[in-house]
Amino acid sequence: MKKVIIVRYAELFLKGKNKGYFERMFVMNMEKSLKGVKHEIRRVSGRYLVEGFEEDQAEEVLSRLQKVFGTHTLSVALVVPTNAENIFEAAKELCKENGTFKVDTHRVDKSFPQSSMEFSAWLGGQLLALHPNLRVDVHKPDFIINVDIRENGVTMVFSDFIQGAGGMPVGTAGKGLLLISGGIDSPVAGHMIAKRGMKIECLHFHSYPYTNLQAKEKVEDLAKIIASYNGGDIVMHCVSVTHIQETIHKNCTEDYMITLLRRFMMRIAERVAKEVGAQCLITGESLGQVASQTVEGMTSSNAVIEDLPVLRPLCGFDKNEIIERSRAIGTYETSILPYEDCCTVFLPKFPVTKPKMKDVLAEEAKLDVDALIEEAMLTYETIEL
Ligand code: ATP
Ligand code: MG
Repeated sequence: MKKVIIVRYAELFLKGKNKGYFERMFVMNMEKSLKGVKHEIRRVSGRYLVEGFEEDQAEEVLSRLQKVFGTHTLSVALVVPTNAENIFEAAKELCKENGTFKVDTHRVDKSFPQSSMEFSAWLGGQLLALHPNLRVDVHKPDFIINVDIRENGVTMVFSDFIQGAGGMPVGTAGKGLLLISGGIDSPVAGHMIAKRGMKIECLHFHSYPYTNLQAKEKVEDLAKIIASYNGGDIVMHCVSVTHIQETIHKNCTEDYMITLLRRFMMRIAERVAKEVGAQCLITGESLGQVASQTVEGMTSSNAVIEDLPVLRPLCGFDKNEIIERSRAIGTYETSILPYEDCCTVFLPKFPVTKPKMKDVLAEEAKLDVDALIEEAMLTYETIEL
């Protein structure tokens, strides 16, 4: 029996005049997510039908569409030429043998001989006759057989409303640069901002040869997972901070290593963001999670940024909440692989937790900041994933 996927979209209706634009982005993102799979997307009365795929690809199509932001719910529907017998055949495939159920008929084709109520009652009766352990419960059924009789002579029969990713179509809220480490937090932060419609590009700082190539591959793998939520692709920028870390280590008080390094990262990130047209920076910081993630630490790293906002979507989350999200989006298993990113090299025993601006500036005065940044930018490379 032919299958289609019904895609109902989420918040788009809020956007009034921009609705057309939002819908175009949404369709484009669905198209990209289905790259390599034969399919067609059609808009039908306020939702989309995805069809034309091979029957055994339904699961794959569904799982890809579930990651497209803007999707509210999805259903896998059986499609039959409209007549009572065909609809019964389809309903039989979806019907369970036990528990309670009801039939919900929606009749757009008014030439169909029975009213919605009459047809629901008839189909329910047929299914009851087939499975003696079934019962009807119109208020709190265990499952529903939905029958959608369309005007073009076809009927869609489906049972489940599968949760979609929610959010807004990626690309409708501008572009942001995600500072991505190999850890658990930053991929989750990127996912949250992409969910609100922002296209993400990634920036990773490495300390090769102190960190190995596996560490970089791990970050690439994380970025690829985010790509599946990011309209199907992602760009990753990489900059080496090896020499910056060595120079801080050689010249400054050990406890300020992280504080100073973070200021370098922010400066470089703002520069990269402006070059690639990103309108904000995104980090995986969570208030109080580690020594450098105090409000004083954030004050110190924010102070070097000229004008871009820094989004820190995880600020109010506990670590276990972040881990839960990381599992749900599929980044957790990769994030916990052991390869270290740059921050663990030269890690101080007692990092300052509440850096005072005047001390930070005194430590930084021991360095030629501009020269170190120019030099780091020579290692700049971009990968498209
Ligand atoms: P994560 O789990 O994302 O690694 P974390 O708990 O290890 O975060 P920090 O090391 O303090 O915390 O980093 C805070 C944030 O700074 C990260 O979430 C990320 O946005 C950014 N960051 C840290 N290290 C790097 C890096 N090597 N490259 C790019 N961004 C980084
Ligand atoms: Mg980390």
